[in-house]
Amino acid sequence: MKIVRSVADLPRYPTATVGFVPTMGAFHEGHLDLMRVAKTETDKVFVSLFVNPTQFGPNEDFRRYPRNEERDAEMAASVGVDVLFVPPVEEVYPRPSSIVSVPEVTAHWEGAHRPGHFDGVATVVAKLFGMVRPHIAYFGRKDLQQCAVIQRMVEDLHLPLQLRFVPTTREADGLAMSSRNAYLSPEQRAIAPRLNETLTRLSRSISEGADVASALVENRNALASDGFETDYLAYVDLATLEPLDRFQPASAVIVAARLGNTRLIDNVVIE
Ligand code: AMP
Repeated sequence: MKIVRSVADLPRYPTATVGFVPTMGAFHEGHLDLMRVAKTETDKVFVSLFVNPTQFGPNEDFRRYPRNEERDAEMAASVGVDVLFVPPVEEVYPRPSSIVSVPEVTAHWEGAHRPGHFDGVATVVAKLFGMVRPHIAYFGRKDLQQCAVIQRMVEDLHLPLQLRFVPTTREADGLAMSSRNAYLSPEQRAIAPRLNETLTRLSRSISEGADVASALVENRNALASDGFETDYLAYVDLATLEPLDRFQPASAVIVAARLGNTRLIDNVVIE
């Protein structure tokens, strides 16, 4: 596996299908699953490891975000990644940058709770697409709204690549894998799987015809009594992320909730 730090050094494979997995590192099985899927579908797999400062708010965890390049490089190599792209911040942001701002799908949820977050995400992903020039890029459904944002950006800007959205990889107890799970105390870690249990119960009752508004209230209360502070719990359209008030296919229940200082997000997709 090549480790590359500058755009100029990125290898080009003119006859190969290039797959690309953008990440912020601190790899877990969720990241590795994206790389494995990319491996099965493309000839050369590029992974970027870049903790993107512009997608963190001023009071968020940019400084303390877990970083361990050596371990990440070993893990990426173990699943057959061809190129690990680890640019320093100056390589990605050498001067004040053009910004990609995606409308509509960013209006609610993470977009509302983390002002500027999706501008940072869309901007860095657009830059990375331009740098790596992949044919297929892979994103996790764990960050469901991010998938909608990238999809919209690619469509609006006619970017010449395909997108694949990969199902969420979970711990045995259902907790969605996340680099931020490392922040949880043992007590919080024991409570954390209730987030997914709640979403699973909620998605089942909505699919079975329960009243959406009252099911949301009931499950939000259940989360509060488990000790979560809920930023949002919603039932939404899978593509637009607009709230829904009755069951439809291609939808999802989504949540963001805090346990102490750790903010967790999760979702259950109803196909
Ligand atoms: P991050 O390093 O958190 O920016 O994530 C890099 C990519 O991995 C994003 O496309 C995430 O959606 C994806 N990802 C993170 N956690 C998971 C998970 N548990 N299952 C599947 N994909 C994930």
